[in-house]
Amino acid sequence: MPRQDMAPCGAAALQELLSGTIHRCRTEASDHVKIVNSGLNSLLDFGKETSPQFSLGDLKKAVLCAHKKGLKVMIHANGRNPVRDAIDSGCDSIEHGFFMGTENLRRLADEQITWVPTAFTMEAYARTLPKHSRESQVARRNLDHQLDQIRLAKNFGVRIAVGTDAGSLGVHHGEAVREEIRLLLVAGLGLGEAVQSATSIGAALLGLGDRAGCLMPGSPATFLAVRTKPERLLDALSTPERFCFKGVFVAS
Ligand SMILES: [Zn+2]
Repeated sequence: MPRQDMAPCGAAALQELLSGTIHRCRTEASDHVKIVNSGLNSLLDFGKETSPQFSLGDLKKAVLCAHKKGLKVMIHANGRNPVRDAIDSGCDSIEHGFFMGTENLRRLADEQITWVPTAFTMEAYARTLPKHSRESQVARRNLDHQLDQIRLAKNFGVRIAVGTDAGSLGVHHGEAVREEIRLLLVAGLGLGEAVQSATSIGAALLGLGDRAGCLMPGSPATFLAVRTKPERLLDALSTPERFCFKGVFVAS
C-alpha cells in the first residue's frame, strides 16, 4: 500500500480504502499484509535513515483493519523512527530493522513482536558489488551493524525469525536460508536457537504453528533429514538425505 495511493484521502476515506484493500487481500486468499514504512538502506551513506512513509495514525488504522480481518501485518522498516512507529502501531513483525537502535530492540522483546533481520542481504551486496567500491564497503558496515543489533536482541530475548529477502541482489531462494542461519550463529545465537528461528518461530509468525515448524505429536511430519554432526549442519543442509512432507517421504 504505497503512500501515494492514500495521500488524497480524508480520515473516513482512508479507513474505507484500507478496509477495501484488506478485504480484497482476504477474498483473494492473501494471508498477510506488508507495509513499507521506510526507504532502503543507503549503500553510499552508512547509517542514513529515511523518514516514515506513513503517519502513526495511518499505520494504526491499517493494522487495526488487517487484524479485524484476521490478517497479520509485517512492516518493512529501517531506522529509529520508522521502526518506533511500526512498533507503536501494534504490528506483528518488523522486517529488516537496520539501524533501529537499542530502545526499539528492547521494545520488540517487551511487546513480543518478531524481528526478521534479513542480514544476508548486506553480505550479498558486499560479495557481489565490485570489491573496493564504496557501495560494497558500506554494505559490509551495514552487515556488521546488523550483527551487533542481533547480539543485543538475543540478550534482550527478542524473537528472531529467519527471512531472506530472496530476489535481492545475490540473495537466492533456498540457499539464502542457510546463509541467514549462518549469520545468526555468527551473531551469537546457539545452533538450537538459530534452527528455531528458521522453523518454529517463523511458522508461528506466519500463523502456521499448528501445521508446520515443530515436530510434536499431532502435528504433520514435515522435515528434512541430514546425516552429519551438529557443527556441520549448515553444510549438510545443501544436500539433505531425506525430505518428509506431511508424513510421506519424497525423493530428494
Ligand atoms: Zn522489505
